[in-house]
Amino acid sequence: MAGISLALHGGAGTLLRSAILPEQEQAYRKSLQAALDTGYAILEQGGTALEAVKLTVMALEDDPLFNAGKGSVFTNKGDHEMDASIMEGAGLRAGAVGGLKRVKNPILLAEQVMLHSGHVLLAGEGALAFARRQGLAEEPEDYFFTEFRYTQWQQVKDQEGTILDHTVFPGEEKKFGTVGAVALDQQGNLASATSTGGMTNKRYGRVGDTPLIGCGTYANNGTCAISCTGHGELFIRAIAAYDVSALMEYKSLSLAEAMHEVVHNKLVRMGGEGGMIGIDAAGNVSMQFNSEGMYRASRKSGEPAFVAIYGDE
Ligand code: ASP
Repeated sequence: MAGISLALHGGAGTLLRSAILPEQEQAYRKSLQAALDTGYAILEQGGTALEAVKLTVMALEDDPLFNAGKGSVFTNKGDHEMDASIMEGAGLRAGAVGGLKRVKNPILLAEQVMLHSGHVLLAGEGALAFARRQGLAEEPEDYFFTEFRYTQWQQVKDQEGTILDHTVFPGEEKKFGTVGAVALDQQGNLASATSTGGMTNKRYGRVGDTPLIGCGTYANNGTCAISCTGHGELFIRAIAAYDVSALMEYKSLSLAEAMHEVVHNKLVRMGGEGGMIGIDAAGNVSMQFNSEGMYRASRKSGEPAFVAIYGDE
């Protein structure tokens, strides 16, 4: 069997041991492991990288612990607007959705956009209309409701700004969670997928880096597959995901070197908190962040699974 690799994240941020209860930590580790197992099984059975990242992200969207699909953060209006994107490294095909309501699994719609719309990015009402045409499952507003995200929103809804899901809220334990996955399959193809509810209290149709190809998501068989999480505005301005690929392509940096340059130098200089996961064409995995922690997991052929949350793991 040719080498296979899968990595996933569930968001990066102020993740400190002192702030997470042991049972919460266990719940997160269990969810990360389950999503990893889902995607890895597909690769082991000879499935495509595209299928693996899609189903890994879907598992995380269905998990209320993470800020994507069920469990998405609240907008200023008190509803949910989700962003997602998917890309395959073979033909540089990509699909994305922004400001999407009611669709149960935004990552499925991103894939439909890539395969059947003739476009790359659909937004808002139009994206929902396309989802209906493609027969995707919808859920009522209360499906996306979680008590924690509601409380989080109540604390900030009268303020002007948006709040990164990763930001520490005074006096509460922290839960984070944009999700993403990258994979290399037995055919040597790379793929990447990312999905999010965005930032708490967002308004005016704010869209982050997640559905922007090259910013929050990128895949190219010649270089790498990348999925990002963090303060979206900064990741957009840094063109973070594509920058890793460009550093590899034009400066011959390794995956880990290129990610280090973007995450620990470029983004830090700009004030962009967050992280990213990556896999290169040889199956090497790198998971880097400039915040205290990042929910993350990975597995490659011949090696045991790795699941971690904190910076020192
Ligand atoms: N990058 C996402 C956004 O800005 C947020 C996150 O990663 O949690 O929408």
